[in-house]
Amino acid sequence: MATPKIFQSAWLYFAGALLLVVLAVVSQVQVHVPQERPPGTIEDVRALEGRDDVNLLFIVIDTLRADRMDAYGYSRTTSPIMAELASSGIRFAHVESQSSWTKASMASLWQGMYPERTGIQRYFQSLTEDAQMPAEVLRDAGFRTGGVWRNGWVAANFGFNQGFDLYVRPHAQRRVGMIVGNPSARNLTGTDYDASEVAFEFLESYKSERWFLYLHYMDVHQSLYADTSPIYGTDVSDFYDSSIHWVDRNVGMMVDALRDRNLLDNTMIVIVSDHGEGFFEHGQEGHARTLFREVQEVPFIIVPPFEIEGGLVVEPHVANVDVWPTILDLLGLPPLDRADGRSLMPLIEAAASDGPPSDEARALADRSLFSQLDLSWGQVEAEADPLIAMIKDGHRAIARPKLERHRWLYDHNVDPLERQNIAEQEAERYAEFRAEMDAFLAEGKESAVETKDIELDQMRLHQLRALGYVVEPRTRKNPAPKE
Ligand SMILES: [Zn+2]
Repeated sequence: MATPKIFQSAWLYFAGALLLVVLAVVSQVQVHVPQERPPGTIEDVRALEGRDDVNLLFIVIDTLRADRMDAYGYSRTTSPIMAELASSGIRFAHVESQSSWTKASMASLWQGMYPERTGIQRYFQSLTEDAQMPAEVLRDAGFRTGGVWRNGWVAANFGFNQGFDLYVRPHAQRRVGMIVGNPSARNLTGTDYDASEVAFEFLESYKSERWFLYLHYMDVHQSLYADTSPIYGTDVSDFYDSSIHWVDRNVGMMVDALRDRNLLDNTMIVIVSDHGEGFFEHGQEGHARTLFREVQEVPFIIVPPFEIEGGLVVEPHVANVDVWPTILDLLGLPPLDRADGRSLMPLIEAAASDGPPSDEARALADRSLFSQLDLSWGQVEAEADPLIAMIKDGHRAIARPKLERHRWLYDHNVDPLERQNIAEQEAERYAEFRAEMDAFLAEGKESAVETKDIELDQMRLHQLRALGYVVEPRTRKNPAPKE
């Protein structure tokens, strides 16, 4: 019997094979509707503490000054994704970091404690068991805890891994079109996408459990962006802006990764930074040398697992020491025992209300806030040379007790960019502020956390220098490297 002509056609077999492939694919893929965050109100913020399903994605973007983000009014659209997250979340408009270099600032941020009390002010100082870290609180509350970081100052040898089930520095991969704008920091290999990739794996592994992920991005520190050409101009400040745009895209990839796993409606995202970056506003490029606003004012954005229409903006000045007291309060978890910082919930309530602020909100807004930098932080045997800054009544005062003529006072009401030093004109006010700073220093030492000094091998010192830090252990204890 002759085969009908149609069955001899190669096209028929091709079409049949294609149909089988399509059926096979469809049967494997479940119908997947990406879940957006549902609408919510201040009531839902209050109710967070009673929920037992909320995960926490804690993103630190190293060296990110707030005023370079569109969410904070910048003219360039450097960070549209974070701006959108902020617009339906809680944004703190004025946030003081506690130091202008990573290790001192991160030790404060985690413990909710000022540098005077964390005891972490020199490059060789390390946290000990005595430090109470939020990851420990979260782990004890049943969270899977993960940390992914690319800055050597938060490495395990400095004690920052306490409380983490996983604490990972991602493997550095080469990327096409990667440009590093910061000439003093060209030796860190890889990009923040390496960290994002590890974060995706973490989410995939623990999506069905309750988790806390700390993700510390580093490319803004390097002014690195993974494009073939910069988005903005080509001076060092333009490169910096381009790198913010690149890291913003990584934040977007994290949001997509949460959405793909249906985790957006049960994950709270928090975005913060450890310090800013100077571009010669006060004679310095970089950070870790001063305590002026450009290195001190950082973002703090809380993205709850729901969208608050129009978002909430907290205007009074707050500080990085408040970040963890606030997060733990929101999630209904035990507070840090010895924190200097406070839960900002009363200020969030005030931002959501049309009425007058509560007494608690007023007290928080009226607090004095402090930041510190030991100018000898990169040396072993040099005597301490502390800088201290205080934010109070819309002013910033800075003192350098070792050199009394170095004194600064700025009135943010008329001079938000800190261009006019009025310490001499307003000597009385400066003296008042200075007395309060002295009292703060005297008090802090008495209740300090135990730390230890560690020996850093040449490899670690080399890694830190590769970030552009001037760490100079040229002493008998730590001789100069032979390189
Ligand atoms: Zn840093």
